[in-house]
Formats: sequence, C-alpha cells, structure tokens
Amino acid sequence: MYVSVPPVVYCGTCEFCRKGVPELCLNYQEIAQAWPGGFAEYIALPPEIIQNSAMQPLPEGSDPVRATLAEPLSSCINAMEKGNVGRGETVVIIGAGPIGALHLELARNRGAGKIFVADISENRLYSIRNL
Ligand SMILES: [Zn+2]
Repeated sequence: MYVSVPPVVYCGTCEFCRKGVPELCLNYQEIAQAWPGGFAEYIALPPEIIQNSAMQPLPEGSDPVRATLAEPLSSCINAMEKGNVGRGETVVIIGAGPIGALHLELARNRGAGKIFVADISENRLYSIRNL
C-alpha cells in the first residue's frame, strides 16, 4: 500500500493547531529538513507525522509516480479555492515552473477567462506556453 505524506508536520498542541489553523503552527517541521527523506525510495516516518499530519492511503492501483503530485496539486487547488478562481476570472500566475504549470491547468479547468503567466526564465515561459 502506498500513502501520501504531506511535507509539513504540525505539532497539534500550539494555539494555532488547537484553533484549527495548523498552517500557522508555531512548531511545524518539514520532512527533508527535520528528518531525512523526501526523494528517498523508502523513509522511516517519526510518530508525529502519523499522529499530526494528513497522511492518506492512496487508492488501490494508484500510480506512485503520478501520486507524487498529490501534495503540490492539493496546495494549488486550495489556493484556487481561496482565490475564488472561477469562470471568466482573470488569473495572474507568478512563476512558470512545475507549480505554475499546475496553477495554469487548474485555472483553465475552472474556466478562467484570461490567464497571464510571468517568469524571469525564458525557458520556463517557453515550456509552459506549450501546455
Ligand atoms: Zn502547532
């Protein structure tokens, strides 16, 4: 069984965690900084990750390579929802890297009218232009 593990681990006890806004956690830690892992084939997860994070089992038969997009895609979806991006809206995306590409596809799928992408890298702008 594969699981999706968010990179940020919340303490679950600070005032922000208790108020239900763990993204403001005073004691958050990140995989690959507090613990080794990230791009490793296997990693050992400390109990805090299992107890205080949004670790989710992937559906049976999930492609683990595609599943690597679960966390960044969910963050982008959350940003689109917070920004109320919808039909006919004008969207400006700063950064034409992988996260910018995800935002571009989401904005298109949500029916955005005009979408502008800005970046200082000509190569990235050229790549995203062909999506
Ligand atoms: Zn906390």
